[in-house]
Amino acid sequence: MAGIAPQPGIMDIALYVSGESSIKGRTDVLKLSSNENPYGCSEKARAAYLAAAGELHRYPNTDHAPLRRAIGEVHGLDPDRIICGVGSDEVLQFVTQAYAGTGDEVITTEHGFSMYPILARAVGAVPVTVGERERCIDVDAILAAVTERTRIVFLANPANPTGTMVSEADLDRLAEGLKDRALLVHDGAYAEFVEGFDGGAGLVEAHDNVIMTRTFSKIHGLGGLRIGWGYARREVIDVLNRLRQPFNLSQGQMAAAEAAVRDTAFTRFCREENARWRSWLSDALRQMGIGCDESHANFILARFGDADEAAGADAALRAEGIIVRRVAGYGLPEGLRITVGDEAACRRVVAALAAFRGVR
Ligand SMILES: *Cc1c(COP(=O)(O)O)cnc(C)c1O
Repeated sequence: MAGIAPQPGIMDIALYVSGESSIKGRTDVLKLSSNENPYGCSEKARAAYLAAAGELHRYPNTDHAPLRRAIGEVHGLDPDRIICGVGSDEVLQFVTQAYAGTGDEVITTEHGFSMYPILARAVGAVPVTVGERERCIDVDAILAAVTERTRIVFLANPANPTGTMVSEADLDRLAEGLKDRALLVHDGAYAEFVEGFDGGAGLVEAHDNVIMTRTFSKIHGLGGLRIGWGYARREVIDVLNRLRQPFNLSQGQMAAAEAAVRDTAFTRFCREENARWRSWLSDALRQMGIGCDESHANFILARFGDADEAAGADAALRAEGIIVRRVAGYGLPEGLRITVGDEAACRRVVAALAAFRGVR
């Protein structure tokens, strides 16, 4: 092996840590650490997946045409400008591979999603972290950090793990400021939880340098199946498709995703239930003196006095069989990210935290 070494940057990657899913010796675990859908997925998606099992000996189609057509119809987008991937993570990977390389800079923000620096390092690029203002993305700080080497700016809107959003005017200003210099990746993983929000589609139409990514893992409840998609101008999609393996998605993935996106009644049900219990949960936390910003996603970032108190609250929740996410790795040591579950889940969280805080 002497003389054989991985490419620059690869050994600097800190392995992604996913939400835990079990507590030793407990069978009543409530997993609220990965922003999964408490209502599961659409019945129609499950049926479509099972039906695809009859054709396991066939190769899937390579162009994803029926799925892209369904996404296009439901979201009012041009199917020819959609690319589908193994989770939106794969689409984000195509973007990084295609547009950044050794020594280039990729901008992410202070509390940004941890996949962005991983993807940057994987292509030898340098992740540059820009500060946020009160847990909100600061467009001026991003623009001030742009250099000759900047190729990509990644942001999630709503953001994870803060749940905050950037205004349309600020996004416009950012895209315009990056024009001809860098791509803006608008990650809309939680877009469907925001009533009336287009997830960044309008931004793509208005600016040549914007890519929107979306996922079936969150509101559609298909995280276990791994399907995501991206939307950009045709030239960009043509570039990304050259990096995509022809058979990246299986027939079962595509069938389930198509049924899921077409089941708009289920999507609406999930958005409405999430909004109702998110608001109930944040009110209850605030009444106990636990800080939380208004969240636009399917989780709440609860802020405690300091890292020790957050650790204590985490331990108290675990003692009740509830797993939430520590977010010290996201620059928020005093925080716990709690997925908004169904009514029973939210009540269980509030009861455990009330006991921890010594309130009734
Ligand atoms: C969950 C999440 C995704 C989705 O990733 P998939 O690969 O589609 O499962 C993307 N971006 C952010 C910010 C997320 O929180």
